[in-house]
Amino acid sequence: MIPAICVVGRKNSGKTMLIERLLPELLARGRKVATVKHDAHDFEIDQPGKDTWRHRQAGSTTTVISSSSKMALVRLTDSDSPLDDLLRMVDRSYDLVLVEGLRRSACPKILVHRPETGEPPDVLGDIWAVVGDKMPDIDGNPPCIPLEDIGMLADLIEERLLGGPVQTPAWNLPALLAEAGRHHGHLCPGQVLGVRMAILGCERLGIYEPKSSKRLITFVETDRCGTDAVQTVTGCTLGKRTLKFVDYGKLAATFIDTETGRAVRIAAKESARDAALRFLPNEPNAHEAQLHAYKALPDEDLFSVQDVRVELAEAELPGRPRGRTVCAECGEGVNNGRELSVAGRTLCRACAGGPYYDEVEATVGVQEYQDGTP
Ligand SMILES: [Zn+2]
Ligand SMILES: [Zn+2]
Repeated sequence: MIPAICVVGRKNSGKTMLIERLLPELLARGRKVATVKHDAHDFEIDQPGKDTWRHRQAGSTTTVISSSSKMALVRLTDSDSPLDDLLRMVDRSYDLVLVEGLRRSACPKILVHRPETGEPPDVLGDIWAVVGDKMPDIDGNPPCIPLEDIGMLADLIEERLLGGPVQTPAWNLPALLAEAGRHHGHLCPGQVLGVRMAILGCERLGIYEPKSSKRLITFVETDRCGTDAVQTVTGCTLGKRTLKFVDYGKLAATFIDTETGRAVRIAAKESARDAALRFLPNEPNAHEAQLHAYKALPDEDLFSVQDVRVELAEAELPGRPRGRTVCAECGEGVNNGRELSVAGRTLCRACAGGPYYDEVEATVGVQEYQDGTP
């Protein structure tokens, strides 16, 4: 069974708000977290008149509804489901389930307490921590943690429920730099920045083995040195459709965890170059100064980091080509919906908008071309 902890407390004591703060903290620590919410009232997920509601009216006691982005199961019950049954519905890849409510389950509890909302409710199971500014009169002696100290609460959960913090494999910077140098052809400052940028991006997403995780999609914003290094660390490539190139001419990249939808954009700071020269003031060669300083300077001196959201269209995702058609003009095949419709004809982008190349002679077949006898 997946470890679970229940957030309990009086109505309006701030249980949901605590989960809203705790969840991102645990995700940032590389944990995969699911949630369960117990509703004391009878929630209604099916709106009258909708198809699933009509299925139920017709007698269905279990209805599954699914789309390309989510699915839900609605099963009629005649009593509260035991927590164990609810936990069994969460797949085993999760590390932890945060439960809102279910104070009478056997799971450990976090009690959210605000004196204004009254004395704490009766709770079964151990209270591991009280979140709030004032300790209520309860048995045991759990620590009282202010809502602002969410890191302390996450530490406690990791310690007691998950066997301590995630053992993050140290990134082997020298080995990655050597690999990047081989791939790119030389080790340049751009390789060092690219390798460190990719490490930082992966770390922010809690992805420590990007090449085998299959979770990562990376957008790169330049076709210069650093992009090769990003590929080396992440294993993302154009051919696997996990590397996307947008030509902004910036040493920046956005790393997307396709499993959680979280994305982080990392850009090299314009001031990084000066920071490198200041770091090695006696190095007369700026290129050498950058090459070495970029290995040692802290991330804050080199990069700006922003959490972002990236909408990925279905047709952009890895996997088999979605759809294939043939250009009505040139007869060449076009994958992934890249064709355009012009005046009712399906055309490739070259035929529709003018190609990036100019034809020199009439196109010849490969055999004739090799024979030299067109
Ligand atoms: Zn280079
Ligand atoms: Zn065409």
